[in-house]
Amino acid sequence: MLRSGAEYLEGLRDGRRVYVGGELVRDVTTHPAFRNTARSFADLFDQKQSAEHVDQMSYEEAGERFSVWYLQPKSRDDLRKRMAGHRQMAKWSYGLLGRSPDHVASFIAGLAMHPELFEANRAGFGSNLTAYYDHMRRNDLFASYVVISPQGARNPALYHREGKPVPALQVTKETDDGIVLNGVKMLGTGAVFSDVTWVGNLLPLAPDQSSQAITCVVPMGAPGVSVWARKPFERHALGPLDNPFSSRLDESDGVVVFKDVKVPWEHVFLLDDVRMSREMYFQTPSHVMGNHQAVVRFLEKLRLILGIAYKAAELNDVVQVPAVRETLSKLAASEAGLKAMISGSIEDAETLPNGFMHVNRRELYSALLWCTNNYHLVAETVREMLGAGPFQMPADATFLTDPDLRATFDEYWAGTSGTAEERFKFMKLAWDYLASELASRHGQYERFYAGPQFVHAFYNFGNAPWSELKAPVEEIMAGMVVPPAGQPSSAVKQVA
Ligand SMILES: Cc1cc2nc3c(=O)[nH]c(=O)nc-3n(C[C@H](O)[C@H](O)[C@H](O)COP(=O)(O)OP(=O)(O)OC[C@H]3O[C@@H](n4cnc5c(N)ncnc54)[C@H](O)[C@@H]3O)c2cc1C
Repeated sequence: MLRSGAEYLEGLRDGRRVYVGGELVRDVTTHPAFRNTARSFADLFDQKQSAEHVDQMSYEEAGERFSVWYLQPKSRDDLRKRMAGHRQMAKWSYGLLGRSPDHVASFIAGLAMHPELFEANRAGFGSNLTAYYDHMRRNDLFASYVVISPQGARNPALYHREGKPVPALQVTKETDDGIVLNGVKMLGTGAVFSDVTWVGNLLPLAPDQSSQAITCVVPMGAPGVSVWARKPFERHALGPLDNPFSSRLDESDGVVVFKDVKVPWEHVFLLDDVRMSREMYFQTPSHVMGNHQAVVRFLEKLRLILGIAYKAAELNDVVQVPAVRETLSKLAASEAGLKAMISGSIEDAETLPNGFMHVNRRELYSALLWCTNNYHLVAETVREMLGAGPFQMPADATFLTDPDLRATFDEYWAGTSGTAEERFKFMKLAWDYLASELASRHGQYERFYAGPQFVHAFYNFGNAPWSELKAPVEEIMAGMVVPPAGQPSSAVKQVA
């Protein structure tokens, strides 16, 4: 089934508890901190099922239609179809919704491609997972995830010293009906807009942390669940003219608190196994499929930033300046390079033993490392191209309704390559995208959304074929005959 935007919004009115500071928000679809972004997510659902996009954004199986990110790929064409779907989602959201509905769903689709791994943990967990995957796609659910324990909750010594339980989320009880969860998890990007949140571990756990080794799914409206959201930029945005992105594309982040949350057994997929609670993402296509969405989304973001760079050069009449051209050339090369990495990762796709495919792991991780290492450099370069332009603009758009002020503005703010109105629109959008509080959060997001950078580097280290790479070096070394001691140096030259 493909849900409409209205159906999606209705699903958010489930009694969820979201705290903005001390204020409890009970309906995110109407609250000024969230309502426009909720509407933007709803638009994604509507666009996806529109006549123009439905073929690209969904696939059919046994007479039913499902969102394309639930497609479990068996061919390069399937991978291309998934990629086109991610790209379209990112285009609609200008790359600003990192956890759009295609992100976590891709992780879950990947996990469900290897249910044996969960069955080995406990009988029935594998079928729980495949049944839940099927439930998700049939109901077109939007999942967020919380897979990291909060910084303060990682050091048990502090709590043990004070005789308190460690606040990292854990199973506090098992009953005939399921498990009971207590504690906190970070960082639920998109949690306030999602139907359910996936609970798991992407950080390694110590052997004595087995009660934290829990993988399950929890509806956002479940009793005992609350989200403590960070400052919502949408609430502080002035409006669509001043903040075209912050006003409607702030996906929110928040710590998710669980107090005596009951999870039925059918929503539990792994327990107690500290190693497998993290390894599951790497021993299945899950991590690769989820991060494929991430780099494809990044590409769309990069393309928009390049558009901003070129437009800035045009409006400032500097496209012909050699130094500016050089900057634009380097940016263009980056975009083409990332695009090539993404295409190449499908060309060099890997076939898995069970007949499924995923994109080339190494090429994906090289793209991921490039994205996380370079976002802030690209954003900073383009921000520099704006010069003082954003600060020449009036404080906000209210002056536009005053005929006298408007006439003065139109006369004095125009440039040879753009009207005053064009310059106003451009500077506002560029600042909102690259330098506002939302932009700053994105700088942090792009660095950390898949873990810290040294971990991304490690993915590249761990998957590199070092034996194959060093083999020719060793072969050359073997051919370099060292003469016995006492031989003249000409013997060395002869060998060379
Ligand atoms: C905007 C944003 C959105 C996010 N969304 C989600 C989400 O949707 N779901 C989710 O589960 N998580 C999410 N995260 C959390 C993200 O996964 C973590 O931020 C990330 O794993 C890093 O953990 P940390 O923030 O606790 O930093 P820490 O692990 O505390 O690290 C802090 C700093 O120390 C450095 N550091 C730590 N250990 C080492 C080491 N051994 N060697 C070298 N340097 C080290 C790190 O590189 C970093 O610079 C999000 C984070 C951000 C910022």
